[in-house]
Amino acid sequence: MTRRGGGAARHAILRMAGPRALRAGVTARDVGLMLRAMRLAREAAARGEVPVGAVLARGAQVVAEHANDRESTGDPTGHAELVALREAGKRRGAWRMSDCTLVVTLEPCAMCAGAIVNSRVGRVVYGARDPKAGACESLYAIPADTRLNHRPPMVGGVPAKACGRQLTAFFARRRQERSASSPRSSRSTTVA
Ligand SMILES: [Zn+2]
Repeated sequence: MTRRGGGAARHAILRMAGPRALRAGVTARDVGLMLRAMRLAREAAARGEVPVGAVLARGAQVVAEHANDRESTGDPTGHAELVALREAGKRRGAWRMSDCTLVVTLEPCAMCAGAIVNSRVGRVVYGARDPKAGACESLYAIPADTRLNHRPPMVGGVPAKACGRQLTAFFARRRQERSASSPRSSRSTTVA
């Protein structure tokens, strides 16, 4: 007794993930959670935040989810996955997340990779790679470092292009807005 179209939707969703991600064991549920994280990222962009979203789930159950909130909170540690982990710990009254999968639209940075190791996250699925700050495969591979006592399985690039597009579109728009409000422009601007 499957829902009508459920099978087709599942196949479409798995195609989005790409063959490499499928070989690495990405499931339709992972991709569904990624779409949820991408929606959080989109909403964050509308608030002027760098669009990154994260969902922490135990099976199908979402334990915590968050988007980047550094601009609105002024908190330098306000990265999506770090805030989601913090919220999950508060909610559960426990810091160990070994029964959870963390799904995040951008490759975690060194700070967040450290939090992933320290919270013993069971598994990590991320979207776009971050050649400038990524600490899961790009600049460092912190969660895979054999000197550390926790090494969660990780899958990147799920779906890399769609997640990357959210970020490039955001930065292109921001550059455009900044050049439009530069002193050379005749438009009046409020002092930030
Ligand atoms: Zn981070």
